[in-house]
Amino acid sequence: MADTPAQAAGPAKTCPSSACREGALLLGVMTSAGTLAYLNPPVPVDAEFAARETERGRPERRYRFAGPCLEGGCPQWTGGGCAIADMAADPVHLGLPASPRKLPPARSGTPAAGTSSAGRPPARSAR
Ligand code: SF4
Repeated sequence: MADTPAQAAGPAKTCPSSACREGALLLGVMTSAGTLAYLNPPVPVDAEFAARETERGRPERRYRFAGPCLEGGCPQWTGGGCAIADMAADPVHLGLPASPRKLPPARSGTPAAGTSSAGRPPARSAR
């Protein structure tokens, strides 16, 4: 059986910084300490939640959502991938030295630079 055009294009890309809308996945909640508490598993956003949180204003400041990558409909799309993903993969954009040998030592109880105990990478990036 032949693939549909969507199947031929491969699996859909997921944006880990999507807008709050029905059908998105709620990945995490921003804590008062300014860190993101991830939900496991992520929770699907329904119309009521999206409407209520949008009414409160800028839900993306309080939550992290995942949804389909908009590709050409997003200013971060480079034509072949996501500029955000490229920046995240480049240690210079993370404020880290280019060589892993130059990473500062981790302090006791503190994750080493370039790691995070709170953050997890998205299941799939849009690259
Ligand atoms: S290009 Fe990047 S930021 Fe834009 S929708 Fe796709 S994954 Fe998200």
